[in-house]
Amino acid sequence: MIERGPLVRHDPIVRTLTIAGTTDLSPGFRRITLTGTELEGFTSLGPADHVKILLRDGERRDYTPRTFRPPANDTLAELDIDFFLHGDGPAAAWAQGVREGDEARIAGPRGSHLLPTGANRIVLGADESSLPAFGRWIEMVPEDVEILGFVELDNPSDAAYLDPEHVHRARVVWLDKADGALERAIRALGPLDDATFVWVAGEATTLIPIRRYLRRELGLPRNQVKIDGYWKTGEANRDHHAPIDPDDPED
Ligand SMILES: Cc1cc2nc3c(=O)[nH]c(=O)nc-3n(C[C@H](O)[C@H](O)[C@H](O)COP(=O)(O)OP(=O)(O)OC[C@H]3O[C@@H](n4cnc5c(N)ncnc54)[C@H](O)[C@@H]3O)c2cc1C
Repeated sequence: MIERGPLVRHDPIVRTLTIAGTTDLSPGFRRITLTGTELEGFTSLGPADHVKILLRDGERRDYTPRTFRPPANDTLAELDIDFFLHGDGPAAAWAQGVREGDEARIAGPRGSHLLPTGANRIVLGADESSLPAFGRWIEMVPEDVEILGFVELDNPSDAAYLDPEHVHRARVVWLDKADGALERAIRALGPLDDATFVWVAGEATTLIPIRRYLRRELGLPRNQVKIDGYWKTGEANRDHHAPIDPDDPED
């Protein structure tokens, strides 16, 4: 039987860091590498963890701590955060404009949900916003667990974001972002047995029918499904703790 991983809490720490470099990974993705002595003690144990990027005007936005490299010999610790440059928000604009040597402040993660246990197959669904977390899932899931990944993109060239080994490991299926494409792909899997865990994150409204299908039509219990609205069309700074489907909040 599948059990959701426990929540491990971390001290809420705000860190002032320096941008060690930026790397353009694909037309839409920019990696920002942060460094500094204040990264000491940084911990991120769950694939879908997030930190808050603290922006100048008091705004804060959620981002996945993609890769943390602890300090080694005489090099400082480094943290990569991968930004999708969607072009219309303070965080995306910040990522587009920063340069090596600039300051960055992050808070968190406040907690880590560890991997679920008891699954022999994990189905992952993502768009650009959740592709960094998708990459973390692929890296963290044990080798004997099958992974099936579905990714919706606006621009197919952003498939270059993901390492070829990750694409192979998760047998990634790339989908054109079109109405219902991700839902159709998940439905095409047919009934899901009780050893399959499903994680899907992306635009909140498009996730409503996917969640309804999994939870209500297939009747999968809460411990087998995690659907997370990472952003919402037309809404700045969406709170991802808010239910994606207010008519049917998570039970
Ligand atoms: C747990 C978690 C982890 C996340 N990890 C990442 C990550 O690693 N990398 C990443 O790029 N994003 C990630 N996101 C999504 C990111 O927080 C949102 O996209 C956020 O809204 C971006 O802030 P902004 O200031 O650029 O835009 P906002 O000011 O929040 O929004 C401005 C406008 O842009 C639109 N918009 C916001 N995001 C997108 C998008 N992705 N595509 C198209 N339009 C958009 C909004 O609908 C709004 O109309 C994560 C979100 C959560 C909840």
